[in-house]
Amino acid sequence: MSASNPGHPEGIGGGPLVDGPHDPEHDPRASYVLEPDYVATLTDRVLATSGTSVTLVSPLDGAPLANIPQSSEDDVAEAYRRARVAQAAWARTSMEQRAAVMLRLHDLLLERMPDLLDIITLENGKARKHAYDEVIHTALTARYYARMSAKHMATERRGGVIPLATRIDINHVPKGVVGIISPWNYPLTMALSDGLPALMAGNAVVAKPDAQTMLTALMGVKLMDEAGFPKDLWQVVAGPGRQLGTPMIDRSDYICFTGSTATGKLIARQCADRLIGASLELGGKNPLLVLRDADVEKAAEGAVRASFSNAGQLCVSAERIFVADQVYDRFVERFVARTQAMTLGATLDWEVDMGPLISADQLDTVNAHVDDAVEKGARVLTGGKARPDLAPYYYEPTILEGVSPDMTCFGHETFGPVVSIYRFHDESDAIARANDGEYGLNAAIFSQDGTRARAIARQIKCGTVNINEAFGATFGSVAAPMGGMRESGMGRRQGAEGIHRYTETQSVGTQRVVKLSPQFGLSSEQYAKVQTLGLKMLNKLGRA
Ligand code: NAD
Repeated sequence: MSASNPGHPEGIGGGPLVDGPHDPEHDPRASYVLEPDYVATLTDRVLATSGTSVTLVSPLDGAPLANIPQSSEDDVAEAYRRARVAQAAWARTSMEQRAAVMLRLHDLLLERMPDLLDIITLENGKARKHAYDEVIHTALTARYYARMSAKHMATERRGGVIPLATRIDINHVPKGVVGIISPWNYPLTMALSDGLPALMAGNAVVAKPDAQTMLTALMGVKLMDEAGFPKDLWQVVAGPGRQLGTPMIDRSDYICFTGSTATGKLIARQCADRLIGASLELGGKNPLLVLRDADVEKAAEGAVRASFSNAGQLCVSAERIFVADQVYDRFVERFVARTQAMTLGATLDWEVDMGPLISADQLDTVNAHVDDAVEKGARVLTGGKARPDLAPYYYEPTILEGVSPDMTCFGHETFGPVVSIYRFHDESDAIARANDGEYGLNAAIFSQDGTRARAIARQIKCGTVNINEAFGATFGSVAAPMGGMRESGMGRRQGAEGIHRYTETQSVGTQRVVKLSPQFGLSSEQYAKVQTLGLKMLNKLGRA
């Protein structure tokens, strides 16, 4: 594994970055500094009057990046007040008007790509290529909902109780103000993409991005302002979730939460108390299956992306790989070789294959999981140690063999670049082991027989299953619903489901010509007989 030399980011000279005190001869780590005026244009967008701020630190070099003003509970209340006023006006705009603004956002995301990539990498630490994935995902989501919302939101006609005489219209009406609480791991797309269908459905949003990645979320919101969304329609508050979460839930008409299962359960209980809906996109312990007929080279390449994209800090990342006996040795050899060939680094360069973890907390968890496994007898096939020479919270991509149920990383989400590899003899056993545990977010299957792999997919208890791909086939297909089964969540983002969650379904029935009560001089008994006859006839005609 090699470390890339820090280079000059694309953004220097006109973008958000100024060159830092970096001296490559004496310190191989990068150091970047943000332009203070640029930071101010972002932080202005936080509704915060508390007078306090929190310093954001870059995981690339541990250096301070920016001070983020913190919101009080009063600020949260004010954010909802403003959002409600804005929502009332927005709900009266046409779908065409909303779509035109959304398409401008799509183009702006692509135009400002270099600056977005700089900020995401600087703030989150992820490799630039993984930052690119999320800019693209946000743009895809914007375009999908710009083009498809009119269809998903259109009033539908359905059959009524008396054919022809009862007209039924199904309306999708906006919930009102949606609270979005998002994590740090995909700081742009998690902060923005869930909110885009909420806006297309006629809602307003109050967003609380994770405290560690506020700048990326704010940059996305600035692009929304520039695209032409009314400013008050998307409010941003900043602060700890345990402080701002409850005031948000108390005022929201719906909550969209992405984060850990533990926090998701807390939020679900509070939403239940208010009888408001919530979509909860939570953790996973995702399996990847390599079947006996897999193309081993493709599977090894896919396993690297599945396990180490975003340094494994990805909800759909594979943390357990089950490999058929027949290809086990070849697969392990190729997987280890490909992992060892990765370029490790903590810079803004495209060449980096994996960046550092985001924080000391993440590093502590990864260290604890690997140390525990090794102490109890697991073998490290590659990796297995922190690399402070690359960045303060760097941990090598790590493959473990011989992991057993008494080890923490067997069933608990590590959320880092650590994957355990297991051998299987028959497929039904592999399916049972993949389904073991409480989670059910994402799975991957590698096989040259698509039909067989799709049949196995139906037996896997996960919200998304990718065949011959790590996670991108479903995650990138924004028309496909995405979310978790079991303790990986409730509700779905993306597709029609991703916009309908932000609406109330309203049925409007119009009764015409024939009344739903006795008429034409019939007694109640005669009316009942006629109706019963009608039901029998409809059944004979095969009607629903
Ligand atoms: P987390 O639950 O600690 O934090 C996520 C968000 O919730 C942050 O904005 C945080 O400030 C807020 N929060 C924390 N406590 C809160 C509370 N009591 N009330 C309201 N909000 C609160 O999660 P994390 O550890 O930062 O993120 C990583 C987790 O997120 C992993 O488990 C990962 O699998 C999961 N995740 C899931 C998806 C998905 O789509 N399923 C996507 C990304 C991350």
